[in-house]
Amino acid sequence: MSPAAVSRGPGVGQADAAGGIVAAGIEKRFGTVQALSGVDLTVPPGTVLALLGPNGAGKSTLIRILAASVLPDAGTVSIGGIDAVERPRLACGRLGLVLAEERSFFWRLTGIQNLTFFAALHGLRRREAVERSREVLERVGIAPLATRRVDRYSTGMKAKLSIARALLGDPAVLLLDEPTRSLDPIATVDTRTLVLELAHAQGLAVLFATHDLHEATAVADHVAVLVDGKIAASLAGGGSAAGLEALLLDATGHAGVLREMAQAGGGSGLFGEASGVPDGSGAGGTGGMSPPPGALPPTGLGGGLGLP
Ligand code: ADP
Ligand code: MG
Repeated sequence: MSPAAVSRGPGVGQADAAGGIVAAGIEKRFGTVQALSGVDLTVPPGTVLALLGPNGAGKSTLIRILAASVLPDAGTVSIGGIDAVERPRLACGRLGLVLAEERSFFWRLTGIQNLTFFAALHGLRRREAVERSREVLERVGIAPLATRRVDRYSTGMKAKLSIARALLGDPAVLLLDEPTRSLDPIATVDTRTLVLELAHAQGLAVLFATHDLHEATAVADHVAVLVDGKIAASLAGGGSAAGLEALLLDATGHAGVLREMAQAGGGSGLFGEASGVPDGSGAGGTGGMSPPPGALPPTGLGGGLGLP
């Protein structure tokens, strides 16, 4: 991974992202909850951006907006060169979406029968649908499972089948919302490897949402840290887990609380469901709870995090 650099600038990655994802000034409110406040990010083709943030940070909302399934209150989104706000249907044709909770298939049917069904929903005729299904099974590395019934797939195989399904429309952009949730460690590593291959060898622009900082470092060319609906920091290069941890602790404004938890043995999964970590809106604000920058552990991020 390239040496990390930290910025608080508006963009993530300055390379030409026109064929990938470009989002600017995204705002979204649900009633009294401001889910996203002025989010900017770019994901050039051939790269993976890890969108890292605690539960409730706004990751899924941002993904649904990028996927043109929810309209932002403000802001612009370009997916594979298509304006996703103005032309959502066209943009949908340029993207694949993988949701952690949607590994649902017709379990009595084989992998290829399932994909052929979904390919038909993309408007492909039967022969094209079968051909495309074969191609995507190949692309995700499970061609030998084509004729196996899906109820005989492992969870990891189903995860790959979900990614295969997302590739049926031959998208330029792949959006994955916590795709390794509830996978075992081997399936998790397999999924990350596949995602990297899809970006680096096959040229997709990939956005990978996760609340797991180790996963973010493992999978990312860039990391965007989303806290309370804002990009708190963006890093070129995945950085180190320790560096990201420091960044997250500081950005959530709960450094002291979280550090105590880590010392008490709750060090891993700081942002997991069961962490009991309060959200960033808690009393006290950022300043009072953050240690001075010198007190942070070594970051490996070039220092000078520049966070509030
Ligand atoms: P994440 O995926 O990072 O956990 P979400 O995008 O799911 O975060 O949620 C961000 C915030 O927006 C949360 O406070 C959540 O409760 C709120 N939210 C998300 N979707 C809705 C909705 N449909 N209606 C009301 N509030 C929502
Ligand atoms: Mg979510």
